[in-house]
Amino acid sequence: MRSRAKGSMSASLPDSRKCVLCGKPQEEAYRPFCSKRCADIDLGRWFKGGYSIPARPEDEAGNDAPPPEAPSNDD
Ligand SMILES: [Zn+2]
Repeated sequence: MRSRAKGSMSASLPDSRKCVLCGKPQEEAYRPFCSKRCADIDLGRWFKGGYSIPARPEDEAGNDAPPPEAPSNDD
């Protein structure tokens, strides 16, 4: 019969300290993620979900570069 259970502090820890993306231990600098990579991934997902801004409007004109300044030698 045991009345004391020492050393069981890390037995009932919640999963709130795990990366919400991959489940690895969180890094304080990137909470609630484990690394910048996971943070970027989540941010990217959120960004895509929140906004529907295409990264590159290739379906548009296709040539978003301004026309070259041609010197008007019409004199
Ligand atoms: Zn992660």
